[in-house]
Parts: sequence; C-alpha cells; structure tokens
Amino acid sequence: MHRIDNFCAGPCTLPKSVLTTAQAELLNYRQSGMSIMEISHRSKLFEPIHFKTLQLARKVIAAPDEFAVLLLTGGASQQFAMSAMNLLQNNNRGAIINSGVWADKALEEARRVGEMVEIWQGSSTNFTSLPDLTDFSIPEGTRYLHITSNETINGLQFHQLPDVSVPLVIDASSDYYARPIPWERCDIVYGGTQKNLAPAGLTIVFVRRSLLKEHPHLPKYFNYKTHADSDSLYNTPPTWQIYLLGLSLEWIQSQGGIEHFSQMAEQRSALLYQAIDASSFYQNTIPAAYRSKMNVVFRTPSEALDTLFWQSAEKQGLSGLKGHRIVGGIRASLYNALSLDSVKRLIHFMQTFEQLYG
Ligand code: PMP
Repeated sequence: MHRIDNFCAGPCTLPKSVLTTAQAELLNYRQSGMSIMEISHRSKLFEPIHFKTLQLARKVIAAPDEFAVLLLTGGASQQFAMSAMNLLQNNNRGAIINSGVWADKALEEARRVGEMVEIWQGSSTNFTSLPDLTDFSIPEGTRYLHITSNETINGLQFHQLPDVSVPLVIDASSDYYARPIPWERCDIVYGGTQKNLAPAGLTIVFVRRSLLKEHPHLPKYFNYKTHADSDSLYNTPPTWQIYLLGLSLEWIQSQGGIEHFSQMAEQRSALLYQAIDASSFYQNTIPAAYRSKMNVVFRTPSEALDTLFWQSAEKQGLSGLKGHRIVGGIRASLYNALSLDSVKRLIHFMQTFEQLYG
C-alpha cells in the first residue's frame, strides 16, 4: 500500500509495522473478542500493556529510578501550567529562556500561576539564536529554569542543555526520544507523544521524585504526586494511545534505541541543510549551532513561491511542508519514523522546483 512522505509537524508519521500490528489486533485483541479501545483500563488485559509501556518509556530513554514516569493527558500545553503549579509555591519565582513561539506560550501560562522572569529572549535576532550556555546566570531566589529543547515553529534546538544550580524543566515535545537526556541536569522533562512516538492525546512526564509533594491547595489532578502514587491510573487514561506508545517504544528499541534515532536525526537534517546551503534559492538564516535537527525551516525568494512550493510538493506525495501560520515559509519536520529516503525525495523535489522557478 502506498504511503506518502509525511513532513507534518505533528501529529505525524508512525512506523508502518506499528500500524500493521494495531490493525491486526484491532477487532479482537488476544482472542478477547474486543478491541483495546473497548477494554477497561483496570482489566487483566490492559494492565500488562500499561505497565509494559510505563517501563519502556523509562528504559528506552534511560531515565533513572530517581524519576517518576507519568502518562498524562492535556498535552505539553497543560504542562506549561502544571510544572509551574507544582514548583511555584510560597510566592517564589521561576525563570525561562524565551527561545521562540513555544517558550513564549510556556511563559504566558506559567505567569498565570506565579512570577516568571524571562532571563533571555531571542526577539532581537527574530528568534534565530539561542543564549550562550557557558555565560549564564540565574537570579537569586529562582525556583526553577524552564527551557524548550527544540522550538518546533522557529526551527531552533539546544544541542547542549544548560547545567544550572536550580531545577531544570524541559519542554522536550519535538525532540523527545530522538536524543539522549542528561538526567543528572534535569528535574522535570515533558512532551506530547504526537511527533516522535505515537498518536496525539498522551504526554510523557518525568519528574524527579524529590519534587513530588503534597499540595493541599492544588486540585488533585494537577499534582504530579497524584499520578506518581497511582502509576498513572488515577483516572481513566487514554488506553488506545498507551497501547500504541508501547508498540512504538518496542519499535524504537528494535531499531537501536535513542542512539540510533539521534544519529538518524543528525543524518536526515544534515542532508537537508546541505541542500539548502548549496543553493542560493533556498534560505535558512539560523546559525548551524542552533539549527534544529527535527524541524528544518526554509524559504524561497518569495512568499508566493513558498506557497507554490508546498502546494506542488503535496501533489507529489510530499506532505505537510507548509510553514506554521505564525512564521510562514516552509518547514520539513523530520521525526523518528521518517525514512532517509523521504528526505532524499524532498531534496530531489527541491532541486527540480529550483530549476523551474530559480
Ligand atoms: N511545545 C512544543 C515545543 C510543541 O512543539 C508543541 C506542539 N507542537 C507544544 C509544546 C504543545 O503541545 P500540545 O499540543 O501537545 O499541547
């Protein structure tokens, strides 16, 4: 069966073998006469799926036991507020590096919870750069630092993560499970599954156990401890997503784990950036040190050509290349399940398009 080359920013392409297994098991899971979607989350059939997925979510990314792993709903957007709710108690304040659209949204949400200091922001370079992490200070009395490891819309990525003396909170939504995580530097790591892992509707959150506290004034659902204490079965979890996440994590493991996928991310993005840099028709103005390996943004000489580019690409089975509406241009998202051949086909299309309109 024909499948297109899917460059969408998320939800995005999933491994074909995962979809085939899900298809084969859809109507009658393990001779139960039911699909996974029709089974109680507290049943003997679902429990092994749930606990296997929790265990794999930790194992595949090598998260140590000092971290609780939580499977939540509400997306990374909910974590913008929830991380602040759990950390900003007693009128203390948090800090954030405002690296682009998503960091800005995280800031706006955390400010609804408490005081947040923007210790760096990239508007002076139109969000094409990131701070120098070797020359970095955090104001006294700061409770935590929030960063966005990969800016999905602006096409920027922290290739190293900061080493700071306060708890580090990372929105890893768009490079989750595509790079190793230096756990000794982190305290909360969160991200939705809809890019590198599984369908939308599920958020994987790692929380350092020493941060799990009773918060009598927080609604229970918003306290990480509630979910850590109940193995992410406090309320009905998104069972179908958890099942697919489990299959996808097994696939990641079978392909060589995070090491393999971080090499793949390097290869896919290097090929595409080389093609952009080799041409004077396509442009990406982000310095190499900050360029994202997951979301490659670029432009042609005009907005009209940008539109023609992604529209023509779509017709040739290269899908999802339209830049985000806030920034325009073209964006190719290169997540775990995208093959190198898809990138090669995109580059071939770019060269043909340049010959026609360059
Ligand atoms: N942070 C980043 C870096 C993202 O890319 C996204 C989604 N594209 C979000 C947060 C928001 O995630 P969600 O839609 O799962 O709430």
